[in-house]
Amino acid sequence: MLHNREYRKNYNLRRRGGSLSRYRYMYAEQNGKCKLCGKSQNAGRALTFYPNGLVCVPCACRLHLVQHDPDRAEHIYSTNDLARMKEFLKKRLDTPSAMMYT
Ligand SMILES: [Zn+2]
Repeated sequence: MLHNREYRKNYNLRRRGGSLSRYRYMYAEQNGKCKLCGKSQNAGRALTFYPNGLVCVPCACRLHLVQHDPDRAEHIYSTNDLARMKEFLKKRLDTPSAMMYT
């Protein structure tokens, strides 16, 4: 039985196509580092789940802007950054089912 906090975290992850076990698997695989910028997190800081990898909070904000306000994002980020973020978001469609890791 999961603790209440873990239960809620698991619920939130599942809504986004993940699970706690998959999160832990990816966290270990990325050594606790952001998939996009490669920065490691301070102990205890959560990375945000994306089906294609875990990202730090600043990167998650950038991805959010690229997804929801692409015109503004084009003015703010460099072409290289934009290309990387779009690639990251695109790949999620090809990601195999989260069931693989549960
Ligand atoms: Zn990052």
